[in-house]
Amino acid sequence: MWGIASTIAPHPLEMTDQETSVAELLEGARGKPKLLVVDDQPINIQVMYQAFAGDYQVFMATSGAQALTICKDNPPDLVLLDVVMPGMDGFEVCQKLKEDESTRNIPVIFVTAHTDSAQESHGLGLGAVDFIAKPVNPSVVRARVRTHLTLKFQSDLLRKLVFLDGLSGVFNRRYFDQQFGIEWSRAVRSCSPLSVIMLDVDCFKLFNDRYGHQAGDDCLRQIAMAIKSCLKRPGDLVARYGGEEFSCVLPDTPFDDAMTLATDLERKVRSLGVPHQDSPVDTMVTISSGVATRTVDSQGDAATLLGLADNQLYLAKQTGRGRVCGKVL
Ligand code: GH3
Ligand code: MG
Ligand code: MG
Repeated sequence: MWGIASTIAPHPLEMTDQETSVAELLEGARGKPKLLVVDDQPINIQVMYQAFAGDYQVFMATSGAQALTICKDNPPDLVLLDVVMPGMDGFEVCQKLKEDESTRNIPVIFVTAHTDSAQESHGLGLGAVDFIAKPVNPSVVRARVRTHLTLKFQSDLLRKLVFLDGLSGVFNRRYFDQQFGIEWSRAVRSCSPLSVIMLDVDCFKLFNDRYGHQAGDDCLRQIAMAIKSCLKRPGDLVARYGGEEFSCVLPDTPFDDAMTLATDLERKVRSLGVPHQDSPVDTMVTISSGVATRTVDSQGDAATLLGLADNQLYLAKQTGRGRVCGKVL
């Protein structure tokens, strides 16, 4: 899997029901880790390339400006950064990387011929994780890079786990609220549609009463995975909104497409075939959904859109359950 996999102990969560989602979280780190080597002297880059090409994807930049562009467009997992360069020096590059939300978490190791403690503490103060003296010893630099990458992947994972629902493995309410706000602003800025679906399991109290809470938990997990498998576009997300309620954010998705998706989700859950003998809707577990879409002409804010989806969910419940109701804001 990773070039450094052997140095990382298996995460305890990998042994639990969250197997799929943790594996997905690690997806970003799969394959060879990406290193960016920044140095104005091609000969130095070549030395680094030889040290790392076997285990890493090595990207190269010969100026600070070029390094910043690469970090924005194709973020590496770690940067090896020369300090003395014409134009923008390494310190300035590091400062810019740390100021930018999208590049802040990329570890930076300074590589320099002029090490003194004042320089070193200045570089570390800017947020670099390490300082290495030139000429580099390949096995030392490899070991240090491996250590910092391990720490980086572990902290990436922790940051992501904060946003996961422990039972179902999909995103949690906190992440939903954050992303929904971001997508709302993006939709307003880019004059694009935004849809949201609120889904609720039908007569789930009766399900728990008959089959037990454990079976109820299993059912929620199956539904979460079923919804997730239907979301195909990169920006789409499903979260567990609360108890037996899920929510989907669908950026750039017009009303008709969102209704089609919600209908597919309803069919998909029914086709799981989880028995629910006490449901008045069907002999299988069903869900009800409320869809709401922001168009370019919509008035109101993100909360209004969510409220509308909730009203539509209520309507679906009132009119028989196991169905989708929707409205444009
Ligand atoms: P409706 O069709 O109107 O939604 O009926 P309902 O029974 O699903 O709705 P109600 O709000 O009355 O009950 C929700 C039930 O969902 C009660 C609660 O015990 C169950 N539930 C909520 N969270 C969990 C959970 O994490 N695990 C299990 N097993 N059950 C849960
Ligand atoms: Mg319910
Ligand atoms: Mg409910």
